[in-house]
Amino acid sequence: MVKSKTERGEKLLAWYDRHRRELPWRPAPGQKPDPYAVWLSEVMLQQTTTKAVAAYFQKFMAQWPSLSELAEAPVEAVMQAWAGLGYYSRARNLHACARKLVAEHGGRFPEREEDLRRLPGIGQYTAAAIAAIAFERPSIVVDGNVKRVVARLGALETPLPAAKKDIPALLASFAPNARPGDFAQALMDLGATICTPRRPACVLCPLSGDCAGRRTGAPEDFPRKAAKKARPLRRGAVFYLRRADGAALTRTRPPSGLLGGMVEFFGSAWREDEAGDWIAHAPCGEIPWRFAGEIDHIFTHFALKLSVFVAEAPLDAATPDGGRWRNPTDMKCAALPSVMRKAERAAQDFLALSGFTDARNSP
Ligand code: SF4
Repeated sequence: MVKSKTERGEKLLAWYDRHRRELPWRPAPGQKPDPYAVWLSEVMLQQTTTKAVAAYFQKFMAQWPSLSELAEAPVEAVMQAWAGLGYYSRARNLHACARKLVAEHGGRFPEREEDLRRLPGIGQYTAAAIAAIAFERPSIVVDGNVKRVVARLGALETPLPAAKKDIPALLASFAPNARPGDFAQALMDLGATICTPRRPACVLCPLSGDCAGRRTGAPEDFPRKAAKKARPLRRGAVFYLRRADGAALTRTRPPSGLLGGMVEFFGSAWREDEAGDWIAHAPCGEIPWRFAGEIDHIFTHFALKLSVFVAEAPLDAATPDGGRWRNPTDMKCAALPSVMRKAERAAQDFLALSGFTDARNSP
């Protein structure tokens, strides 16, 4: 039998008070959350695990402890600090949002979901999470963990993503009136630690007496899944040109679109119908390029196979339009996305194996 709204919500909150996860962006029990930290963590957590986010969050808070300091930072520095976390439009939007809040909102976050949603990079989920967690607004916060818990509690037969519209209604039916921020985080924690994707630990769950999914005997089968579409494969080429002093030729991607504003090596477009004469896309005219192998990378909407080519250039090599030579120290902290780091590693491994003499190590 479905228990009362108050009973379910109270059980969950009591469990949260004993078992909440300690996360770098969470204040100690009883302390007020800092809206800046809540916003920063929620933007970083979009499509990214808490484990991956923790170190980045701490780095950002150490480098820019306040909204105004982040707003004053050059966007390149923010992109650079974000490198490796993925979904780079989030970093650009983060910076744009900080600037907008300082310029138009006196450096303060609005409290209402609808006002938060007018800010760059804040969609429905993030607005609801900030409103609930930072400002105790009664918002319905539905992330991936919450979807799973709610789909199991109600044994929803509609597969995701079609069930997306049923989940907020079901959740609202037992959300308590008090402590909306803790309630949202309690559900997230329950999903992350007890109601896990493969083996939910129902015996430890505070809601087990009231869970339709558990009563089916196979709660792990919820949420039902729609058949997955295969990821298309795109192909392309990337050209790693290393100058005699160890500097590598790079360029910056256009500010918008995939990996916008990030640093990359020269290369071809990435297309499903692309194949074959990669050298036609190489920069710097007639250079003896060598094939160093292929790398694979998975983006959300497509898989990518990149052919990596390497070549060496003299110290006085010309710089093509839009190009920039970066020395090894610059390269270490440049805002290179993971796919380009992979290409860099493949190229450097190839050069090392083929006996290329690195001028930096020459006597
Ligand atoms: S009883 Fe089991 S399936 Fe139901 S919410 Fe708890 S952990 Fe998840």
